[in-house]
Amino acid sequence: MTTENDSNLVNVSDLNQYLYCPRRLYYLMFYQTQGLNFPLAEGRSKHENQSRRGGWYREMYLRSEKLHLHGKIDLLEGKTTLTPVERKHGNSYFENDEVQLAAYCMLLEDYLEEPVRMGYLYLFGTNERYAITITDWHCEKVIEVTQAIRSMNLDSIPDFADNPNKCKKCSTVQYCLPVETKLLEKIT
Ligand code: SF4
Repeated sequence: MTTENDSNLVNVSDLNQYLYCPRRLYYLMFYQTQGLNFPLAEGRSKHENQSRRGGWYREMYLRSEKLHLHGKIDLLEGKTTLTPVERKHGNSYFENDEVQLAAYCMLLEDYLEEPVRMGYLYLFGTNERYAITITDWHCEKVIEVTQAIRSMNLDSIPDFADNPNKCKKCSTVQYCLPVETKLLEKIT
């Protein structure tokens, strides 16, 4: 559940949703309840209390007013240098996954006050992980998309997905009705 204090912050996972299809995020934001359920862990002291086994941290919740972001990093690797690990289903990752990982790195960087310019994407489908270098492009994309999400409002429905194949596995298709809407547009 998003807390009152977090209501103006963008959830990092929403960056991924937006990049998949802004219209999908619109329906998730305004038509459905997102079941966010984060254990709050704020401040450096809480960081020290995180459960840690063999150089792994689990579930670190971070928020930043400066970045307008909040989110939960499922897994962090490292003893002296912490590196976020984002786990994904499937056999491949996409640009939106990299941007999501970059946002976690930026949150961690803001929190630790030291550079975090690398993260891992782990794919369940291949049981492999990929080291992703966080570039200026990634950081600029995070800022740009965060701003775009903060500007979204109920009265302005984003356009359909750039690739119709995305609609086949979209959970908000029953709200969006892309095929029906496009048919109606043709006959009106
Ligand atoms: S059905 Fe397609 S266009 Fe509609 S929200 Fe989903 S991905 Fe976007």
